[in-house]
Amino acid sequence: MILELAVLGLIASWGGLQHLWTVLCRRSTEFQMTVGGLFAALVLGYFMGCVPYLVLDVWRPGLARDAKVQKQWYPGARALLRCTVSLIFLFLGVMLPLIASSYPIFRWVGVRRDPPLPRADVVVLQVITCFVIEDFGNYWIHRWLHTPWLYRHIHYWHHQWSAPFSLAATDAHPLEVILLGVPTIAGPVLLSSHLFTTLVWMMLRQYEAIDIHSGYEFRWNLNCYLPFYGGTEHHDYHHYLYSGNYASIFTFCDEIYGTNLAYKQRKTAKSR
Ligand SMILES: [Zn+2]
Ligand SMILES: [Zn+2]
Repeated sequence: MILELAVLGLIASWGGLQHLWTVLCRRSTEFQMTVGGLFAALVLGYFMGCVPYLVLDVWRPGLARDAKVQKQWYPGARALLRCTVSLIFLFLGVMLPLIASSYPIFRWVGVRRDPPLPRADVVVLQVITCFVIEDFGNYWIHRWLHTPWLYRHIHYWHHQWSAPFSLAATDAHPLEVILLGVPTIAGPVLLSSHLFTTLVWMMLRQYEAIDIHSGYEFRWNLNCYLPFYGGTEHHDYHHYLYSGNYASIFTFCDEIYGTNLAYKQRKTAKSR
């Protein structure tokens, strides 16, 4: 729902955005706007995405119980505190330096901020392409992380939550955050996207991560309209059984490489 509102708001205020962007370009350096903008997009996308789910998990646990995938577990104060501390460290200690050190790459491949903003159809097409690139890269890195040594030393961190919740979306080993950051920045780098498009992509990618870790499968979730979008239950299954359904966004890769067979059997058995 937040995603739909954000897209509508963006379309409605396109003229205002053009003006704001020009003012920002005048008042800041390219480095400040690229690094500060990307970090702000990550933080805003993440925490704004978390708010409605935190309300449901903490303030009104019974309100959306029907939509909760794993109804037997809600995050308590300890889990939330542990996740928050871990996220502060990951955002400030890993992601911010990663973005700042990627700045020369962004410049080298032609990610620029120059006004005017790109056309809305260009933004939409490039963001969709970024989702496809991210999904493919993320699928193979995630499968690799499930090999015994990498799982024991790196990926175990993300799997400490067998019933995922919104705040736990990015709670992972710093090395995993860096590894999975590669397919995230691969799209804008390969497409030489405008900085504005890159910011939109980063925010939506954060929101998508929250969505699939939220633990809630609502009737208005994207996967109800787009059958090739994985969604919450698809990724929840991966956390519950620790294998299968490796893709982060779409269902293509798991379908093509046969890593969703157990999931499909389980779904069929449940629907009988
Ligand atoms: Zn995993
Ligand atoms: Zn996960």
